[in-house]
Amino acid sequence: MKMLNNLHAFLWDHPMANNCNTYLIDGEKRILIDPGHYQFFSHVRDGLSALSLTPEDMDMVLVTHGHPDHIESVQVFSDMKALVAVSQIEMDFIRKIAPHYGQVLGVVDFEPDILLQEGEQEIGSIMLQIIPTPGHSPGSVCFYWPDEKVLFSGDVIFNGGIGRTDLPMGNGEELKASIRHLAALDVEYILSGHGEPVTGRQAVKRNFQEIESFWFEYI
Ligand SMILES: [Zn+2]
Repeated sequence: MKMLNNLHAFLWDHPMANNCNTYLIDGEKRILIDPGHYQFFSHVRDGLSALSLTPEDMDMVLVTHGHPDHIESVQVFSDMKALVAVSQIEMDFIRKIAPHYGQVLGVVDFEPDILLQEGEQEIGSIMLQIIPTPGHSPGSVCFYWPDEKVLFSGDVIFNGGIGRTDLPMGNGEELKASIRHLAALDVEYILSGHGEPVTGRQAVKRNFQEIESFWFEYI
């Protein structure tokens, strides 16, 4: 799905299998966000192919957090030019829980090329803000693209929902604080790790209001 001239969404809509949405910023540099489960990587490959692109054309792969349905496919890029970037805190978390959390074991051997910290990350002519958003996982980050007012929200918030906090080192209070932080940004598109995009400033505002008024009671 084309969101903007230089932004595409490969939304995962299979009803029976879990995987994340993947996004492509097709700018001066090509940035892939959350490549998803390894076994479903053909979903991304097909999306790229429809744009006459391949994984080899990617310059950077950004990961919002270390759950396997988001990160597993970084291994596809191990011998390609794309730099893989993961938050420093999330990498520490992945290594710590790896012995107890078998699903992540497949990717724990990989070394990211870039350890993301809070702040601005310039990728060619594109500037993304790296925003730490713990709660769903301890080193989760969201990517905010101020030029286009796009928020890549990972599993922190969805269209009409929030990320779960019952996974290892999840934390409800931290998730609430992270969501409040995101709600203060000037956003026209929420592109989340699962589900449909939220499009338009009013819809974004409503989505945050609904989350605060409904979901915050249950965290
Ligand atoms: Zn997750």
